[in-house]
Amino acid sequence: MKDILGKISSVETMGTVDGPGIRYVIFLQGCNLRCKYCHNPETWDKNAKCLKLTPGTMVKRILRYKSYIGKDGGITISGGEPLLQPEFVTALLKLCKFHGLHTAIDTAGVGEEHIEDILNFTDLVILDVKSIEEDEYKSITGMSMEKFNEFVNILNKKTCRVWLRQVIVPNINDNRESVLKLKNFSHKIKNVDKIELLPFKKLCIEKYKNLGIKFPLQDVPEMDEKKLEELQLLLK
Ligand code: SF4
Repeated sequence: MKDILGKISSVETMGTVDGPGIRYVIFLQGCNLRCKYCHNPETWDKNAKCLKLTPGTMVKRILRYKSYIGKDGGITISGGEPLLQPEFVTALLKLCKFHGLHTAIDTAGVGEEHIEDILNFTDLVILDVKSIEEDEYKSITGMSMEKFNEFVNILNKKTCRVWLRQVIVPNINDNRESVLKLKNFSHKIKNVDKIELLPFKKLCIEKYKNLGIKFPLQDVPEMDEKKLEELQLLLK
C-alpha cells in the first residue's frame, strides 16, 4: 500500500494555547480560505515546499515529548487547514489515540471529505468561526459558508468537545451585536466548553512582505485589549 504523506508546514513541541495542557502542535500545509487577518499566509499554498512525513514517522517524533505532554496535554493538528489532508490526519489521530494521547484539531471547518473519520478520533475541536453572517463570512474568507455549515452539522452528530474561537477586528466585528450573535450560535453547537475572542494583531506583516503579498488589513489598528475583555464578558 502506498504510504500516506502529510504535508507539514511546521511544528511547535510545547504549545500552550491550542488546547488544554502542553500540546505538540502540527501546522499542516494548505488552506483554501484567504482570511483577511490570517497570520500564517505561508501555510496557504498546498504545493509549497515543506516537510513530508508518514503518520508513523510523525507519531514517533511526537512520542519523544510524551513525558512533557503528560496526562493533561496532548496533540493539536492545526494549519493551514487540517481537514484538507483527511487521510493523513485520520491516520495520525488514530495512532495518537492508540498511544493514549488527547487529540485536538484547530479548524475553520472547511474540508472536502472524510470529516466523520477525522472526528471519530478527535477529542476536542477548536472551531474558528470567521463569522456567522454569510456576507461577512465571504468578505473575510473569500468563500461561501456552505462547507462550514456542513461541518457544523456533522460535528453535532459527534461527541467531541468544542472550543469556539473568533478573531475580533476593529470596525468589522468589534461590537456587542456581533459577539451576541456568536453567543447565540454557540447554543446550536453541542458540547461547547469555551468561547474565546482573539484580538486582531499585525505581527504577521513581515511574513506578508517576505511572500510579496499585500496584507489586506494593514491600515486597520490592532484590537484594543480592554475593549476585547469587555466583549468577552458578554459571553459569560
Ligand atoms: S483558515 Fe486559518 S490558515 Fe486558512 S486563511 Fe484563514 S486564518 Fe489563515
